[in-house]
Amino acid sequence: MNTQAAEEVRRLFAGIRRAPGSESRYAPHKPLLLLMALARIQQGQPARFSFAEIEDELKTLLTEFGPSNAPKTRNMPFWFLQNDHGGKLWSLKLPASLLVYSKTKEPTIKELRQSGVSGGLSEEVVSAIQAQPQLLMEVARQLLHSTFPDTLHESIASAVGLDLNVPVRHVGEAPAEYRVHHKPGRDKAFRDRVLQAYEYRCCVCGFDLRLRHMPAGLEAAHIKWHTHGGPDLEPNGLSLCALHHTLFDLGAFTLEPTTLKVLFSEHALSGSRGMTGELRHHGQDLLMPVREDVRPGREFLEWNWKNVFKREARPMG
Ligand SMILES: [Zn+2]
Repeated sequence: MNTQAAEEVRRLFAGIRRAPGSESRYAPHKPLLLLMALARIQQGQPARFSFAEIEDELKTLLTEFGPSNAPKTRNMPFWFLQNDHGGKLWSLKLPASLLVYSKTKEPTIKELRQSGVSGGLSEEVVSAIQAQPQLLMEVARQLLHSTFPDTLHESIASAVGLDLNVPVRHVGEAPAEYRVHHKPGRDKAFRDRVLQAYEYRCCVCGFDLRLRHMPAGLEAAHIKWHTHGGPDLEPNGLSLCALHHTLFDLGAFTLEPTTLKVLFSEHALSGSRGMTGELRHHGQDLLMPVREDVRPGREFLEWNWKNVFKREARPMG
């Protein structure tokens, strides 16, 4: 096993540059495209592909997992990844029609689509990963952890077609073992404090099932994601049932930053039961903690509104 090559691959993936602007802005474009590229290698598909070939899939991923306008900038990661580490991670084969663009000025979506440009992970990266399949899963997990909250990892992996649980056999070791999924250090007390602040119930639907004396299916969500600098403090936490936690992280609903009303996205549809079913909490007040100092902080709600929520909100009926 070439450990030097593996180390280099880890370095290249860990150091991708995120979209310019605030450090904490949620920009999942490059991570999602890289995860797609890794999935293709894992599935034995060609490591290089044209933009036209993957455009629809990338658009779908950005629609589901990105902020509101993310699909409109789906040309960006395909183009700008070539700048990371001087092209050692991602390379493009440029047709003549695109030579007028620079590394800082990107072609439009239509131009990329029509030009036939192809791209993909660099040959060095692909061969290192093909030689060590566990390295592929390692960098995929690293991308997930550095960009998305834990609730979304499985959904994103299955949406791009990545298997994160392929058995890993270490040379000289006993039979295939499953790689243990280590979560990065978290303040475990955060969950306890947040759940307690909300009296152990979902602050949207009131769900408060217990198994004996233990709360079940209740989680502490970060309003501003941990991956983007959101602190482990009560004003950045919400006590949510597992379903509302997932919907919150997908941007299906948020809290209006000043009124703290629950607002569902106009993109969240529920045809069969509509406003009497899944959407019945739209417009309602949050089931608020009694103590004022643990209530949701406006700056965190604004971050969520701007970065995660699938704008716009449904009209109030
Ligand atoms: Zn709930």
